[in-house]
Amino acid sequence: MSSLRNVTRILSGIETSDGAGVSLRRYIASPQLDMLDPFLLLDMFSSDNPDDYIAGFPPHPHRGFETVTYLLHGRMRHKDSAGHEGVIRSGGVQWMTAGRGIEHSEMPEQEQGLLQGFQLWVNLPASQKMMAPRYQELEPEQIPIEKNEGIQIRVIAGETARGTRGPVTQIAAQPVYFDVTLAANHRFEQPLAANHAAFVFVIDGEITVHGITANTVIKNQLAVLDSGAELKISAHDDSRFLLIAGQPFQEPVARYGPFVMNTREEIDQAFRDYRSGSFGQIGA
Ligand code: MN
Repeated sequence: MSSLRNVTRILSGIETSDGAGVSLRRYIASPQLDMLDPFLLLDMFSSDNPDDYIAGFPPHPHRGFETVTYLLHGRMRHKDSAGHEGVIRSGGVQWMTAGRGIEHSEMPEQEQGLLQGFQLWVNLPASQKMMAPRYQELEPEQIPIEKNEGIQIRVIAGETARGTRGPVTQIAAQPVYFDVTLAANHRFEQPLAANHAAFVFVIDGEITVHGITANTVIKNQLAVLDSGAELKISAHDDSRFLLIAGQPFQEPVARYGPFVMNTREEIDQAFRDYRSGSFGQIGA
């Protein structure tokens, strides 16, 4: 087996809407790909038409996993049932560990202009599903940028080949979350834990993943990678992509909407707890 990561699938995502009518493109948690353990969902939203996003995501609960919001353009206000509130700005990240449960809203803080970003759901192992909720929130300026000839890496989580570490830490899935800008005809090389799930999402341009075969991935495509300790990517055009990787938990997954547990009984319990108000309620 080669130690080089190879592309196993390329996904173009499915147009859908969620929340109160936010248009988005769903890549993971879609008919194309149910999940990529430990990743439960990946949505990309990108529109300069307020009708596509203005309705936002009114109050809703989460239990048993983490939501990661990364904004490329625009502003999003979040507010939870425990009184925690803030605005995610362009280039900022919110890594929210829902744990035993929060109820929150996520609403665009703009009435016009481009809103673009991603939401990733990362599972928690059984031992941490009922932990206390926790936020790791980063202003754009707090995310380290590693620059080399033709390469710029915004390091949100994980460690680059040159030792730059992301500020998001203590996450069960031991994630890598990089936003990589790669100039045409340059190369990006990154070691990865060989057995961790990994994918790249091309935000702009066109890249090639060099594994056993060479596979080209274009804008708005997600490439699922196989196992292997090394990743090699080159850019045809000036390109930008996300590299996301994490440890699979290989546990049973019972999911229903905003709750992701190990068993059906735990899902039923989540509904009972939510209905009885133990998540706290907002916006009522
Ligand atoms: Mn949410």
